[in-house]
Amino acid sequence: MQLQSSDAIILDVVDLHDYDRIVTFLTRTHGKKRGVARGARRKYSRFAGQLQPLAKVHVTWLEKEQSELVRVSSVELERSPSGLHNDLEGILLGSYLADHMLEFAQENEANDHLFRLLDSTLDALLADVDRALAARYYEAWVLRIAGVFPAPRECPGCGRGLEKREVGLAERGEGLVCRDCGGGSWRPLAPETVEFLLRIGNENLMRLQRRSPKAVTLDEVESVCAQVRRSFLQRELKSYRVIRETLAGIQE
Ligand SMILES: [Zn+2]
Repeated sequence: MQLQSSDAIILDVVDLHDYDRIVTFLTRTHGKKRGVARGARRKYSRFAGQLQPLAKVHVTWLEKEQSELVRVSSVELERSPSGLHNDLEGILLGSYLADHMLEFAQENEANDHLFRLLDSTLDALLADVDRALAARYYEAWVLRIAGVFPAPRECPGCGRGLEKREVGLAERGEGLVCRDCGGGSWRPLAPETVEFLLRIGNENLMRLQRRSPKAVTLDEVESVCAQVRRSFLQRELKSYRVIRETLAGIQE
């Protein structure tokens, strides 16, 4: 058995048997991990209060040979996520952020970009950055880091620069291409949407917020990212469906 430790962000916590919990966490140095926190359901557990989804922690664990599950030995809270969990919209957004990492982060494979993206997005949200802006920035960046949705600079179809061309979503939603490469159901995007997808490469959330895009632009970013993500995963993220259904229910 080998002892490891890293900064991490907790993604998911589920009960196991009467006393234990299974924790999935994104580490800075070892990718995604799943482990058992023994006794975490007991009243006076040493893990009490620390195992909340999206908490930033310093975690120590034991790797066991021939087991995918590690044993979590200690967890120290570094940043509480509770500011995000005060209302339903914040809780839904939190599960959406975590869901992306459960899907896109690899086990045992460090990805500093993904870790820093989740970490900095949570930081900005806890400092009250606009939630819709943060969600659009985050979902577009996850797809970009995964190599699925590059910045719209060149058309992947013909290799020409997109700067002075109309940009739109390719027929099956696999990415952004010029009109000539678009096929029958090519859907043009507003220039502001393309601009946002370029700006996220140079500006962090706080800077984006100083000249925040209009709601209609953020809506288009959301729908484009959702289509690219669906085309890649061949299904929808569960948390995204829950958000859409819950918010639609509230508005009725
Ligand atoms: Zn093209």
